[in-house]
Amino acid sequence: MPHHITDNPPGFISPACVDERGRLSGFVHSFEMGSAVDGPGMRFVLFMSGCQFRCLYCHNPDTFKMHNGHLMTVEQVIGEISEYAVFLRFAGGLTISGGEPLMQAHYIREIFYLAKNDLHLHTTLDTQGFLAAHLEDEWFNDVDLVLLDIKHIDPDKHLALTSQPLQPTLDFAHRLSSMGKKMWIRYVLVPGYTDGFDDVERLAAFVTTLQGVERVEVLPFHKMGEDKWNKLDYDYRLKDVSPPDAALLQRVIGQFSSRGLYAC
Ligand code: SF4
Repeated sequence: MPHHITDNPPGFISPACVDERGRLSGFVHSFEMGSAVDGPGMRFVLFMSGCQFRCLYCHNPDTFKMHNGHLMTVEQVIGEISEYAVFLRFAGGLTISGGEPLMQAHYIREIFYLAKNDLHLHTTLDTQGFLAAHLEDEWFNDVDLVLLDIKHIDPDKHLALTSQPLQPTLDFAHRLSSMGKKMWIRYVLVPGYTDGFDDVERLAAFVTTLQGVERVEVLPFHKMGEDKWNKLDYDYRLKDVSPPDAALLQRVIGQFSSRGLYAC
C-alpha cells in the first residue's frame, strides 16, 4: 500500500526558525546554479522544502514535507549565491522556488532582501500563491518578478488536481496586478486534466484581466518525477498519461496568444 502523504498544515506559514546559535534558518531541498528556465536569463535557483499542494503531476514530491529538507542559515545561502553574484548581476539573478517557498516566508524574505540590497540581483519568486494573503504588501518589496503557477481555472478540477482550493491563487494574482508587480503565469499542460478547450479559454480570459503579465508559460507535463513517487511509495496516478504532443501544445499556446498575451 502506498504511504499516506502527511500533510503540512494548510494555510500555514512556518514560524521563523533559528538554529542553536540563534541564526535564522530554513529547510532547503537543494540549489542549482545556471538554470535557464526559472525566470529571465541564467538563474541561481533555491528550492525550498514543503508544500501544501499535492499536484498529481508534481515532479518534486520529495519537497512535500518541509522537514525533509536540510537546515541552512540565511548566511550560508547568501554565501553560496555570492560566489556567482558578479555573473548573475548581468546574466540573470536569483529565483526562489520549491516546493512552495511561501511556507517559509520569514526566511526567504531575508534572502530576497540581501540578494536585492547587498548583492544587487534581480529576484524572482516561483509560487502558487496559496499563502500570500498572510503577507503584507511590503513583503514583496525585494521581489522583482513573480512566477505565478495557476494549476487549473476550474475550482473543482483545481481541488481534484492539487488537493487545495483555487481562490487564494486567483486573489493573489489580482493583488499582484494591483501592486504593479511583474508576473509570468505558469500553466502545466496535462492531457486529460488541464487541456480542456473551454478551461483554457477561461484561464486566458482571466489572465487578460491582470496588469503586469509579461508572458504565459505553458509547461508540457512530463513524467520525470515518476521514479521519485515510486521511491517514496506514494501513489502516482498519472502513470498512464502521456506528455502532450506538439499539436496540443501549439493549440493551447495559441489560445493565449490569440488574446494578445505573449505565450510560449
Ligand atoms: S505546487 Fe509545485 S511543489 Fe507543490 S505539489 Fe504542486 S507541483 Fe509540487
